[in-house]
Amino acid sequence: TSSRPPRLARVLNRIDLRDGLGDPRRLLPRAQLDVSVAVERIRPLVEAVREHGYPAIREASVRFDGISPEVLRVPVEAITEAEGVLDPAVRAALLESIARARRVHADQRRTDHTTKVVPGGTVTERWLPVDRVGLYVPGGLAMYPSTVVMNVVPAQAAGVRSLVVASPPQKDNGGLPDPRVLAACALLGVDEVYAVGGAQAVAMLAYGAAVDPAGELRCDPVDLITGPGNIWVTAAKRLLRGVVGIDAEAGPTEIAILADDTADPAHVAADLISQAEHDPLAASVLVTPSVALVEAVEAELARQVPATKHTERVTTALTGEQSGVVLVDDLEAGLRVVDAYAAEHLEIQTVDAREWALRVRNAGAIFVGAWSPVSLGDYCAGSNHVLPTGGCARHSSGLSVQSFLRGVHLIEYTEAALREVAPHVVTLANVEDLPAHGQAVQARFPVGGPA
Ligand code: NAD
Repeated sequence: TSSRPPRLARVLNRIDLRDGLGDPRRLLPRAQLDVSVAVERIRPLVEAVREHGYPAIREASVRFDGISPEVLRVPVEAITEAEGVLDPAVRAALLESIARARRVHADQRRTDHTTKVVPGGTVTERWLPVDRVGLYVPGGLAMYPSTVVMNVVPAQAAGVRSLVVASPPQKDNGGLPDPRVLAACALLGVDEVYAVGGAQAVAMLAYGAAVDPAGELRCDPVDLITGPGNIWVTAAKRLLRGVVGIDAEAGPTEIAILADDTADPAHVAADLISQAEHDPLAASVLVTPSVALVEAVEAELARQVPATKHTERVTTALTGEQSGVVLVDDLEAGLRVVDAYAAEHLEIQTVDAREWALRVRNAGAIFVGAWSPVSLGDYCAGSNHVLPTGGCARHSSGLSVQSFLRGVHLIEYTEAALREVAPHVVTLANVEDLPAHGQAVQARFPVGGPA
């Protein structure tokens, strides 16, 4: 492949739904990146990590990352040192990102609530943080100190006590994770960090493993794994869901833009490119009724793509089957399309953007109007950037304080309150042919007919 791809007159695939939407979910561009195929590919690796631990992790790191330190746990001094040499501008930007994320996530904290069901009968919902959490911070094609912020801030706001970060070893940092990732850990007070990436990291976090040749150091298993990653990370998370808790699938990134002819084509093109630069599998989708906008955006792409740093990756992503323009009759139809697509990131660049945004049902996060690009949310809006991909926004949320909490009910009834409802319990137990359930109440006192 050449580093200077040909200038394309038309970059994006076109899907014309002006004759009717039909079943938009079927017609929309989405990668046939089959996570289930990837699951089968990484299954032996995950099994090997479970069975052999350290040697299997090392072997996978050497194979897929081309390097692995002998001791997989990053020395605390290396974390402190990374913060010490952090560029002051990067430090200031990370601190701003952390401060804004903390403000938003502090407001997400839940309080316990007691419902008085009847006199003498209460149910209290307590919100308890998960004990130990593994946070995956990607580091294949790009480095993501921002993802450290987006994982750690909500976990800390939830009150998680034991936080572990895993991130791929980097050749140019002697097999340690990216120094900016380490520095972000330091700024947030995280000191348990492992230089392990990919499916092997997810397996290590789920099962626990020795992390040095002598087996003296261990990574204890976690209760929950969160964080984005490429298809291999996503596949490992899907495979291990149940062994550990998993947040929503946050795989290769997606942007959908609902725009009309009031949108600035240069902004639209820049935003499509910005997400395409994450991954050749990233998806950039423009949904619009305006043919004039499409032509103008294409002209902008032809101008901007060759000038961007990661031209090759961007071109692969933009021209891939997962990206494209969807032409619709009007914004109403556009709204149905973006709802069917359920993008990880949805930008609304239309007149009355806020009104349209409030009508959206399915999206990981919605960026409203000309001055709220996805890049802002990636770093410094205060919102979280770990968001559901692949249509998971139909049923899942992005990372938040809630992701790290469990609601536990406390049921407290007095004898009188139990007596009052006992006949109903016995009746329902008998209906389900589970008479021992009724007996458990009758063991306490005789239960008469229906209350
Ligand atoms: P990554 O850390 O997710 O993946 C790199 C690891 O993949 C390597 O350590 C390696 O061990 C493993 N790997 C590579 N090739 C493999 C193979 N053939 N088989 C098995 N394992 C293999 O980093 P990345 O590649 O840069 O991907 C990051 C992803 O995270 C991007 O797709 C980006 O869009 C996404 N992302 C998503 C969100 C979100 O919220 N959805 C946020 C940030 C980033």
